[in-house]
Amino acid sequence: MDVRINDWEAIISEIEKGPRREIDIADEHTGDPTPIASEILLDGDKEQGRWYQRERIYCSLERCPNCPHGDYFYAYRRNKRRGTVTVQFGGIPVFKREDIENMFSDDIEPLFPCDPSTEGVV
Ligand SMILES: [Zn+2]
Repeated sequence: MDVRINDWEAIISEIEKGPRREIDIADEHTGDPTPIASEILLDGDKEQGRWYQRERIYCSLERCPNCPHGDYFYAYRRNKRRGTVTVQFGGIPVFKREDIENMFSDDIEPLFPCDPSTEGVV
């Protein structure tokens, strides 16, 4: 297939006209604490200057109907000398936090419930 530069520009501008994608929202997060709805420290130490978080974030001050978005993984690095914090989007987890909590919950209905009155009867 022969795709010219103009075609690519047209494709990109089409995508940019569409609704913001989850990956764009996640990628635009700068580490500013304001849009963070919730965070879980996964590894590292904020005092040591390098840590990893699982976060839910608000996409804008207005907050869309889907807010907060996530969970997303982020890697943080603090430069003490410059007083800056850089954040890097690390991906979207396969499972939502609630799904993992439910997996280890005792409240789940068993797949094949046993009837105690017939249990052990052959
Ligand atoms: Zn939103």
